[in-house]
Amino acid sequence: MKGIVIVLAALLVGCAGVMTQPPGAGSVKITPLGSHDGEFCARDRALVFEDPNGTRILYDAGFTVRGPNDPRLGKIDAVLLTHVHGDHLGPAHQPAANAGTCGNPDFSVNVTPTSNTVNIVVGKKARFLVGSDMPMFFAGKVKNAGGDPKQVQLVRFGAMAKVGGVSVATVPAVHTNGVGPEFLDKNLGDTLQANGLTAYVGSPTGYVLGFTNGLVVYLSGDTGITAEQDLVVRGHYKANLAVINIGDVFTTGPTEAAYVINDLVKPNAAIASHANEVATQGGKVLPGTRTEAFMKAAKVPTHVPLSGKTMEFDGSGKCVSGC
Ligand SMILES: [Zn+2]
Repeated sequence: MKGIVIVLAALLVGCAGVMTQPPGAGSVKITPLGSHDGEFCARDRALVFEDPNGTRILYDAGFTVRGPNDPRLGKIDAVLLTHVHGDHLGPAHQPAANAGTCGNPDFSVNVTPTSNTVNIVVGKKARFLVGSDMPMFFAGKVKNAGGDPKQVQLVRFGAMAKVGGVSVATVPAVHTNGVGPEFLDKNLGDTLQANGLTAYVGSPTGYVLGFTNGLVVYLSGDTGITAEQDLVVRGHYKANLAVINIGDVFTTGPTEAAYVINDLVKPNAAIASHANEVATQGGKVLPGTRTEAFMKAAKVPTHVPLSGKTMEFDGSGKCVSGC
C-alpha cells in the first residue's frame, strides 16, 4: 500500500507542474539570427534556442536566416512558425551577412513559392511544429521541396509536443494568418489577390517552450494584448522568460508590450522582438526607439537580441551570460 501511495505521489508531482520541470543544471542558449552582425535590425525575428541537452529549435526564420545552409543554424531539431505572414515565413532571404542596411536589408534571394522556412525544414530534416490549419498547407510544400510530409506536426492549442526533452505548446495570438499569393498556385493566388483576399490557414499562434533546466519561455508571435497572456501563459504555463513583439501597427507597441510583461505574463525577464526599426548602432540601443521605450516601461530586466550574440538563461529566466 505504501508503495502504491509513493507511486501515485510521484505521478501527481510529474503531472502537476505542467511545464515547470524540476530546476535542472545548465543554461539555455538563445542566439538571434538577424540581418546585421551585432545589431538589432528592422526585420529581425529569428532566434535559435539550445537546451542544455543540445536540442536546438529555430523560431520564426523570416527573411534573415540565409537559407538552410546558413552556417549560424548548425543542427536544427525543430522549426517553429507562429503564422504565415512573409516576415515570418520568408518569401526571400539575404544573399550574405550584413547585405543592405539595418533599416533596409537586402533580401534579393527569392524563394517563393516554397519559402525560406520550408527550405530550412527540408534541408535540416527537422520537425516542423505548427498549429491551427497550417500542417495541411505545409505538408504539401515540404513534400514538393523533397522532404517527408510527416516532418510537419500539429500542435494545436492545449496540446503539447516534445522535442528532445523540450516541451512545445502553442498559445493564442490575436492577429491574422492569411497566406499571400506568392506562396500559392498562380491561378489561385491571382484570383484571391484580384478579390482582395488571402488564403486563411487558421489562427495565428504564439508558443511556450519548457526546457530541461526549468526555463519556460513565452514566444508571443505577432499579437495584440490578449487575456490568454494572463490566464494561459502565466496562469497555466508559468512562463519565466518572455520574447515579446514590440513593433506597433502590426502587433503590440512598446507601451502595450510592457503592460503585457508587467501585468499579464509577469516573467522574470523579457527579450524585445520584431521592433521594425533600426534599434541599435554598435550594439547600443538608440535613443528615441521603440526598443528604448519598451525597456524603460518594462519593470523586469529586458534584453536586446543582437544578431549572433548568444545569451544564456538559467532555469529561473535570469540571464547568466551574454546580456
Ligand atoms: Zn510580423
